This record gives sequence, C-alpha cells and structure tokens, in this order.
Amino acid sequence: MQRWAYVDGTVLPIEDAKVNVEDRGLQFGDGVYEVIRLYQGVPFTFDRHLARLQRSAAKIRIDFPNLIETAKQVADALIQKSGEIDGALYFQVTRGTAPRNHPFPIPAVSPRLIATLSPLPALTQEQRWSGIAAIVLADERWLHCDIKATDLLPNILARQAAIEQGAEEAILARDFRIVTEGASSNVFIVQSGVLRTHPDGPFILPGITKEVTLECAASLGLQVDQRPFTVEELRAADEIFITNTTHEICPVTQLDGVVVGNGTAGPITRQLQEVFLSRCQQEVSLLSQHA
Ligand code: PMP
Repeated sequence: MQRWAYVDGTVLPIEDAKVNVEDRGLQFGDGVYEVIRLYQGVPFTFDRHLARLQRSAAKIRIDFPNLIETAKQVADALIQKSGEIDGALYFQVTRGTAPRNHPFPIPAVSPRLIATLSPLPALTQEQRWSGIAAIVLADERWLHCDIKATDLLPNILARQAAIEQGAEEAILARDFRIVTEGASSNVFIVQSGVLRTHPDGPFILPGITKEVTLECAASLGLQVDQRPFTVEELRAADEIFITNTTHEICPVTQLDGVVVGNGTAGPITRQLQEVFLSRCQQEVSLLSQHA
C-alpha cells in the first residue's frame, strides 16, 4: 500500500519526501514528535496529541505559529490520500535547516513540520490478552523526559537490548530502583486491587494513553495511587501493564523471564481494556459521523 508523507507544504509518496541534510532534526535530534493512532481514518485523542506537540515544541523553544491548525490540515490531506485506514500518523517538528552549529541559528530559520501516515492494523483480542515480555533496565535518560523529543538514543538502545533478550519492552528504573516508565510506554502495576503508576513530571512522558487509562480507571471506580514504585514492587505486582498509542493497554506477562500472574492479562487489566476499547469505538463513531 502506498504510504504518504508531508514535507515543506507538499503531500507526496513517502519515498519521494526529502529533507535537507542540514536539517537540525537530522544533525542533532533537535526536534519533537507525536504518534497518533487512526481507527478507520479517525485520529484518536487528536487534540490531546496536538496540544502535547505544541507543549513539547514550546519547551525546546521552537516557535511554530499555527502549529495545531497546520497539523490538522496536514492530517486531513494525508487521510484523504490513504483512505479510512487503521494507521499511525507521525508528526515531527524540527528547528529547521541551517549550517551545522549547536546554538540556535542566527538569523532565525523557520521550523519544519514533517508528517507521515502508515497503516497499522487494529489489535486483535488475542494480542490484547496475550501481552508482551519485558525486561528491567537502568533509566539512563536526561531530566526532561516530559518532552517528546526526537532524540531517542537511550530509548532505542533499551528497546534493542529488550529485543535481544527475547522481550519487547524495557521497563526503566532510575538507579535500578524507582520505576519510571517503559522505553516507549508508561508502566502500571496492580497490587491488591490498587492501580499504581509514576506521576507526571520530569522523569516520564505524560502519556495520552496513560491519561485515558486513568479516566477509564475512574469510571470503573478503581483505586489509583500515582506514586513512584520500586523494582521490588514491580516484581511483586499482581498485574503489570504498559500503555502507549500503538499498544493501547498491553499486559506484561513476563518480566525478566519470570511469568507475571497467570501469564495472561489480569482481571483489572481486562476491565480497563474493555472500557478503553469502548471509549475508542465511541470517539471514532462520533467523529466519523461529523466528518
Ligand atoms: N513514554 C515514552 C517514553 C514513550 O515513548 C511513549 C510513546 N510515545 C509513551 C510513554 C506513551 O505515550 P502515549 O500514550 O501518548 O503514546
């Protein structure tokens, strides 16, 4: 299937989309990004993702006037090309192109918006329940993990280490002690019926799926404790799951080679998955009616 991209004001086949070699995103990872899931051509929690994109850009002092409106128009154009697919919309904002030099360019250059749309099949019930294996690794990242920065080296190395150990995700812990989040996800545990996850702040990305999951938990009347927890508490948890845009709510059924619970999604994880899915379906049918 043809994949489409947007760059410098034009929508074109992804293989024809090019940026200058001196784009600061390429040279320095000097940019921010978002990934948004499309369900039948409808971007889920779109406004929240775009608001986070704008916050991330502002935090690294990229001034992109009308970013949200532009991104919406770009999304419309890409969706029109691809049709009502299940997919992933990717946005990246870089500081723009200038001769390579660390400080911000003088005179200032315009930031660059890049976008792509790729098919991403909806998860099956089997995938939702069977979950993934994870390993625990030291969190070696900087202290601005709330910024969705394109510079993802520590995350990439952690994910690769996980893959090489037969797992999919790396759960990160500061000093191997306090669990922060996954290399590409937020992490939740259930202990004695109480849901725990690291509070937002400099150590984690404020995940949109995390936010929706907490809303689902509230609607179920679950007790939630947003307090950091330790690797020991993680290992002793009744249930573990990760959340992100591509995996939604995904049980961790093996941790460092040890089976978690009974090796499949636990009861609270399943309840949350059910509510999450119905919220998705609701939002998608509402928005497609208004399209
Ligand atoms: N933390 C990190 C480090 C991530 O890369 C992601 C995925 N982008 C998340 C959390 C989850 O964020 P979201 O639910 O908004 O996809």
